[in-house]
Amino acid sequence: MAMMQGKRALVVGLASERSIAFGIARALREQGAELAFTYQNEKLEPRVRKMAQSLGSSLCFPLDVAEDDQIEQLFADLGSHWDRLDSLVHSVAFAPREELQGSFAEQTTREGFRIAHDISSYSLTALVKGALPLMAEHGGSVVTMSYLGAVRAVPSYNVMGLAKASLEANVRFLAADLGARGIRVNGVSAGPIKTLAAAGIGGFRKMLTHVASHTPLRRNVTIEDVGNAATFLLSDMAAGITGEILYVDGGYSTVAMMMDE
Ligand code: NAD
Repeated sequence: MAMMQGKRALVVGLASERSIAFGIARALREQGAELAFTYQNEKLEPRVRKMAQSLGSSLCFPLDVAEDDQIEQLFADLGSHWDRLDSLVHSVAFAPREELQGSFAEQTTREGFRIAHDISSYSLTALVKGALPLMAEHGGSVVTMSYLGAVRAVPSYNVMGLAKASLEANVRFLAADLGARGIRVNGVSAGPIKTLAAAGIGGFRKMLTHVASHTPLRRNVTIEDVGNAATFLLSDMAAGITGEILYVDGGYSTVAMMMDE
C-alpha cells in the first residue's frame, strides 16, 4: 500500500514548481495523500491553485504566517472541509534581502533579526498550535525545512542561520511537548536548491557549484530527493522518529574536506 494512503496533509510554502514544498507535495500525492495548500498573497493565488489542481486538490487558503488572524481562519476553513489533519508541511522562510549578503556583523539589524525569526521559526510553533484541534485526537506528523546554516557559519546566510538554529530547537521542543499526544515533529536539512527564496541569498550560484563538487554524491540535491525524504518522515514508516533533523544534502555535512579529482 502507498505510504500516505488515507492521510490528509496541509502544505504551507508553495510558490512555484521549483519550491521544495512542490517536491514534497508531489511525493505525498504519489504516495496517496489527500492535499490542501496555502498561498501567501493574491499574486501567488492563481499559481498555487493551478499547482494544487495538478496534484488533485481544490483546497487552497490564504495565509500570511505573520498574521495570527489568518492562521486562525486557515484552520477554521480547513476544519470545515476535513475533520482531521494527519500531516503538516512547513516550508516557509524569509529575511529582508539586504540581510542575506555581505558582513554578518554589519548587515544584521534588529528588525531583520525579528522578521527572520518570526517568519522562519515562530511560524512553525504558531501553525502547530493552530493544527492541534485537528490533530490531537489521533496524532499526526509535522515536517519543517532547515539548512546547514543552523549549525555552521555559511557566507551570506547570516541572520537566516540564526533563525534556522531557532527552528531546529523549535522542532525539538515541539517534539518533546507533543509526543505524548502522538504528534511527531521533524526537520529536513536540505542542501542548496535553486528556488525563489534561494535567489535572495548573496552568491547562491557559487554555493551550488561549490557544493556539487565538494559533496560525497558529487551533485546537488533535488526537490524530488527532499520530497521523498520528507514523505518518509511524515509517514507511519517513520513512526519511531521525532525531534530529528534529517540531512538530505548528498553527504556534504558529513565531510571535513573533499579533494579535487
Ligand atoms: P520558495 O521561495 O519556493 O518557498 C518559500 C515559501 O515561503 C514561499 O512559498 C513563500 O510564499 C513562503 N513565505 C515567505 N514568507 C511568508 C509569509 N509571511 N507567509 C506565508 N508564506 C511565506 O523557496 P524554498 O527554497 O522552497 O524554501 C522553502 C523552505 O526550504 C524554506 O524554509 C527554506 O529556508 C528551506 N530551504 C531551502 C533551501 C534551498 O536551497 N532552496 C535549502 C534548505 C532549506
